[in-house]
Order: sequence, then structure tokens, then C-alpha cells
Amino acid sequence: MSKVARDNSGYEDAVAPFVVAANTQAWRKALNLLYINGSGMVLSEISMPVIVSLDGKEEDVTMSLDLMKGKGATMAPSLATAILTMFMPGLKSLMQNPALAESGSKAGEEKMVQAVFSSFAPVFQHGLDDLAKTLIQSGFTLSDAISVAIFQALSTFRKSQIHVMTDQGEYEDVVRLLRRLDVAHPQIQVSVCPNCANFRLIISRHSPHSEKCAQCGSLWTTLTLYTLENTLSKLKVENSDLPVFISAYLRNKLTYLTAMEEISVYPNAVVNTDEGQVEVDVYLPHFNVAVECKVFRDPFGSFSGPHAGSIVGDLREKIVRLMALGVTDLLIATNLTNEATNKLREELLSDERVRLRLWVLPRDMSSLLGSLDAVADSVGKQVSANFEKALKGTKTATGKESDTPEEDTGPTLPHRREETPPP
Ligand SMILES: [Zn+2]
Repeated sequence: MSKVARDNSGYEDAVAPFVVAANTQAWRKALNLLYINGSGMVLSEISMPVIVSLDGKEEDVTMSLDLMKGKGATMAPSLATAILTMFMPGLKSLMQNPALAESGSKAGEEKMVQAVFSSFAPVFQHGLDDLAKTLIQSGFTLSDAISVAIFQALSTFRKSQIHVMTDQGEYEDVVRLLRRLDVAHPQIQVSVCPNCANFRLIISRHSPHSEKCAQCGSLWTTLTLYTLENTLSKLKVENSDLPVFISAYLRNKLTYLTAMEEISVYPNAVVNTDEGQVEVDVYLPHFNVAVECKVFRDPFGSFSGPHAGSIVGDLREKIVRLMALGVTDLLIATNLTNEATNKLREELLSDERVRLRLWVLPRDMSSLLGSLDAVADSVGKQVSANFEKALKGTKTATGKESDTPEEDTGPTLPHRREETPPP
């Protein structure tokens, strides 16, 4: 007997903007965030995923950055990272501060200012002491140094993230859409003037309107660091965002298709069985459907060489456990290329224990959504067929296998329709 012990359906609200975007054409690109591995988005040791956008051209400010650096000794990259790392814990506690929620009112603004100062106080009291000594010794002015360091650290970090996207244009589109969907918020913005080497460093959730250097009127080159909405941020670090999105998307589709019946969908399900616990990324126990999500840190490099062998081996074992659970239809959503997914599917099916309907999907949101629509349609048809049978008085289970859990044995989902007994 198997039973879903716990799942992440309580977090589906955090991905609601993505479900909306999925039902459009123009906003769908924002969903590509789900194809970035969380560990590739985390800055230094702070477990908070960030994204960085660029306005203007970096090559235009090479001369200016050089001049800013030229005012003193060249700053070591480790020092640049050290400065940024010092600011991040402050930002983190700042964003968790309830005062932020009240910003807009005057009292809220005051609390906000207090929160800023208390968040950064440790940095200024302790962290900067040693740093300041270093900077003074090397002839830097602090603000020049911090701006150059933050600019360079953000630039390096941004390039490493773009590496896992298809191109720079796509990355910027994703960041822009995430911001407009209100799931990404600016935290730090650093601007450098390509013309006069003027600079501007802003720590704010609201980026300013001025796009031009106050000194000479040239357009800034600006890097902006964004953090994600708190719950989404947590899901991203755990790489649970794609499963939770898939679950929310399916639930949304099924609500329309099966208005008469609430379908159980469990993201990040932990299922207790007689043989132990099985984790399923997305589980529809009554229909024996499961989705596994494999979002690789380096999607272009990870599925080759000896590493690929262990990926295939682990997945085969996982599939065997899912089959023992009764799963007959399995979708594997990956961020790999078409070629790599074809190879992966072939290798999985070459194991004679793997006997179920298997789809391995590449990094392509339209193909993933198309497959999820097909799953929803199929579930919807089963439900209406069973409903018709029930109307005709035929006693039948609603597509359930005898060894799968009854609907009421799972945890109570937030979207579950409550049954009210007749008076
Ligand atoms: Zn200027």
C-alpha cells in the first residue's frame, strides 16, 4: 500500500505568475527561468538565487572602468567578491523584514530606512574595517572601489548564467519579463558612464528613472542585480520550482477539464510504500502518471562522458521504483538538447526492466506545455468516461488501480474542493 506522505502543493501560489505566462505566447519566454539549475544562480555561499540584467554595452565602459581602477592598484577579484558577499547577508535579512511589506506608507518608509541601516550596520562596523585598510593602502577611494568591484562581480556572474541560456538576448528577455511579472525585484544597481567615468551605485527595490549620467548626459551602462520572490527563491535553490510549476499548470488545466471532480496532483511528492520512501517530482496517483524533472547545471556539457553513465543509471533505478508504485506513463522534463534527450531515452529503454510509456523532453517550453496538455486531456477523458459510467449505474473505480491510495488518504491540498455531507 502506498501513500503520499508529503508534497509541495502548498507552494503553488509562488508559481501562479508562470501559469498565467504559460497560457500566453508573448510572456511564455519567462518560463525559461525554470530551466536554470538553482545552484547556478546562487551567489557565493549565500543560498539565494539572483539574476543580473545589463542595460547598455559593457565594452563601452571598459575605458571608464580602467580609469576608475587606475586611481589605485588593481583590485584582486577575490576582494571584489568579498565586498559583494558582505552586502548580501544584509540584503537577505532586509528582504525578510516585515517592514518591507508596509512600504508605501510613511511609517513603512521609516521602518524601511531603519531596516536598511540595521541590516548594513554589521557590514560598516566590522566588515569594512579590514577592507577600508586595504583600500586606503592601495590608494582607492571607497566608492570607486566598491562600484568597480560590484560592476565586475555582477558582470562575471551574469556571463556564467548566460552560459546556460541559449543566448544573451534570451537571458535579458527572461529577466525583463520576470520583473514585469513581479517575481524578480531589483536590489543593487551599478551604473558607469562610458564618457566621463562617472559612476552611480544604488541599493533599492525601485530602480531610478534617470538613464543619463548627471555629469555629462551620456547614457549609463548599468548592471542590476535582482532577487526572486521569497517562496520562488526557496523553490529555486532546491530545484523544486519546475515540479511545482508543472503541478500548478496541470491542476489549472484539470480544473477546466474535470469540473465535476478534483484531481490529486502532488509536486515533490514523498510516497511511503512497503519497500520504503519514493520521491516523485510530480505524481498523479489515480492515473498512474508521473513527471521527473532533470535540470542540469551545465545542460550542454553534463550529458557526455562518464558522468552521463551515472545519470542514466540513477534514472533507470528511479524508473524501476516508479513502476513498482504503479506508474505506467512517465514524462522526463530536462533542459538538455534534442539530441541528448533522444540519446537518453534510447539508453533508458535499452534496460529491459524499463517497461512503461516514456517521454523524454528537451529544453523547450512549448514542447513541455504541449505534453502536459496531452496528459491533462487524457486524464480529463478518463474522468468523464468514468462519470458517464457512474451515471449509468455501473459501479466502477475512477481510473484507480486497487493498490493506489484512495483520494482521501493524501494530505489536504489547498485547492481541494471540500465535500459537504448532505444535511
Ligand atoms: Zn558622464
